[in-house]
Amino acid sequence: MTESLEDEHRRLAQVLSPDLLAEARRLDEADPLAQQLDVFVDAPGVAAYLDGNSLGRPLKDMPETAARFIREDWGTRLIRSWDEQWMELPMRLGDRIADVALGAAAGQTIVADSTSVLLYKLMRAAIAARPGRDEIVIEGGNFPTDRFIAAGVAEETGTTLRWIEPDAVTGVTAEEVATVVSDRTALVVLSHVDYRSGALADMPSITRAVKDSGAVMLWDLCHSVGVVPMQLDDWGVDMAVGCTYKYLNGGPGSPAFAYLRSEHQGRFSQPIHGWWGAADIFAMGPEYAPVAGIRQLLSGTPPVLSMLAMQGMLDLIADAGMAAVRAKSISLTDFAVRAYDELLAPLGVRLQSPRNASLRGGHVTIGHDSFQEVTQKLWKDGVIPDFRFPDGIRLGLSPLSTSHEETLRGVVAVRDALA
Ligand SMILES: *Cc1c(COP(=O)(O)O)cnc(C)c1O
Repeated sequence: MTESLEDEHRRLAQVLSPDLLAEARRLDEADPLAQQLDVFVDAPGVAAYLDGNSLGRPLKDMPETAARFIREDWGTRLIRSWDEQWMELPMRLGDRIADVALGAAAGQTIVADSTSVLLYKLMRAAIAARPGRDEIVIEGGNFPTDRFIAAGVAEETGTTLRWIEPDAVTGVTAEEVATVVSDRTALVVLSHVDYRSGALADMPSITRAVKDSGAVMLWDLCHSVGVVPMQLDDWGVDMAVGCTYKYLNGGPGSPAFAYLRSEHQGRFSQPIHGWWGAADIFAMGPEYAPVAGIRQLLSGTPPVLSMLAMQGMLDLIADAGMAAVRAKSISLTDFAVRAYDELLAPLGVRLQSPRNASLRGGHVTIGHDSFQEVTQKLWKDGVIPDFRFPDGIRLGLSPLSTSHEETLRGVVAVRDALA
């Protein structure tokens, strides 16, 4: 242990209720995934990184991974690497994400574009597949890009947005969805974990309600992939998208992924007809003829360099197993809520996430009118959560790279900044 960490421990022991610190250390000692903490880059000057849900930390071997790629795959094999490995990479990596984190069989997931662009492609494909239906159901509190893309698609396709306005803390329920879907609904777009509250939607029940109405269900997995287990195949999900730079640590701007259930492939058609979605990429024919499989979701040349970092993280998650990742996540968020109860609730801070861990994803959101200024102060002090308008601080606790003691450091820093 370095001296500065020891100093930090002594300082913490003085300012904390000793039982919280003892509890954090007890949980860290008992953590079966503790050895994974050491695999991630330690950012100099950062006492608590609580934003792994927005941008995961890099792995320590990333510089060597990147150097090897440039030296060998690109620098030595040159264009031969397209044939040798890169052509298949969007599908191979999609299958890896599906296997490790989605509960989905191979051949239904690709890595491409951004979440925003894949939302567009899948929404258009869903609307086209449900002719005569003219409504898109979406939640008022969904992430801006999801709402903006849906509004654009509605405008292009002559459909109407139908809004659900669920409770801001507990999130959307299957009952709420069941009351708005009808034989007019073409598509329902929802987030598995709410980006603000962290509320976890009941994916199997909601998917069933949507499919009973004959509509297509599109899940946004940005805040759940790699932290909450799911079974897309068993739960009947039609389509899904997600980010890879959040809990999958793919790095800034790493491409997104899309899942399209096998029974829809060859029937659903996305609107950006590039050569990478054609039946024969190198036929150079006069017209676009789509490939039947999942590759049809591609449009142009994939960003191979940006697909490097997520591969190491997927290996780590596979080693741990999603059940253990979820158990650690629940332990971290439960502990954050406990520390909130002791240290922040008395100062008038509100809990804006579900208290029950089974209804919550990987982050905990707390609210106070001063949190915009508090966040600025925290960042200066090397404690890094993120601020979500109007008054929320998200404590994003990426399970493999965050300890209970780091979580406590973050909550204590919020208390100190408020004082
Ligand atoms: C992070 C996030 C996005 C981001 O979309 P990009 O196209 O990658 O910028 C979209 N939707 C949700 C729900 C998110 O949390």
